Amino acid sequence: VGILGGTFDPPHLGHLHVIEALANKFDQIMVIPTGDPYLRPANPIASPGERLEMCSKALEDLSDELQGKVVVLDIETSRKGATYTFDTLQSLRAFFPKDDFTLILGSDAAATFHKWKRSEDVKKQADVLVVRRPGDIKSEFKEIEISALDVSATQIREDFAKGKTPDTISPSVLNYIKDRGLYGSR
Ligand code: ATP
Repeated sequence: VGILGGTFDPPHLGHLHVIEALANKFDQIMVIPTGDPYLRPANPIASPGERLEMCSKALEDLSDELQGKVVVLDIETSRKGATYTFDTLQSLRAFFPKDDFTLILGSDAAATFHKWKRSEDVKKQADVLVVRRPGDIKSEFKEIEISALDVSATQIREDFAKGKTPDTISPSVLNYIKDRGLYGSR
C-alpha cells in the first residue's frame, strides 16, 4: 500500500502525476491530507475538511481503473492536534495488520524527514520511496524516476492571489476552489 500524505492546499496535477506513475507498483494508494502540519511555517489556507474534499475531487479526474485503486482517508484531518505520521502508521497497522506500507514522499518532504516525530520508528513501520522534484538533490532514501512535474501548491496559491487561474489543477478542484472563493479566487 502506497501512502501519499501532504497538506494538499490544494491538490494539483503534480500529485496526480505521482499517483498515475506509481499506481502499478501498489495494490492500493492512500491519499491522506494532514490535519495540523506542524512542520510547515504557515498554516494551510483551506480548512482540513476543504482539503479532504479537494483530494476526493482531484481523484474524480483519474481513470476508472485508477479510481478503484486510490482512496482518500480522513484519518489525519479528523484527528485533533498536530499530525504525526508515526501515529497514522500505528492506526493503519491496527486496521490493516497484514499490509506493507510505503510512504511516497516528494524530495522536499524527504529533506525534513529527520525532524518527524520518531522518524527512526517510522522507518521501521514503512518503506520510504522518494520522488525527486525538479531542482532538488538526491535524498537518503530509495528514489524513483518519474519526471515529476514542476508544479507546487505554493505557486498555485500565488497565481490565485494575483487573479490568475492556474492550469495545473484538475477541473473539478478548480470548480470547488472558485465556488468557495478559496485562495482569493473571487
Ligand atoms: P506547498 O507548495 O504548499 O508546500 P506542495 O505542492 O509541496 O505544497 P504538498 O501537499 O505539500 O504539496 O505535497 C504532498 C506530497 O506530494 C509531498 O510529499 C510533496 O513532496 C509531494 N509533491 C508535491 N508536489 C509534487 C510534484 N510536483 N511532484 C512530485 N511530488 C510532489
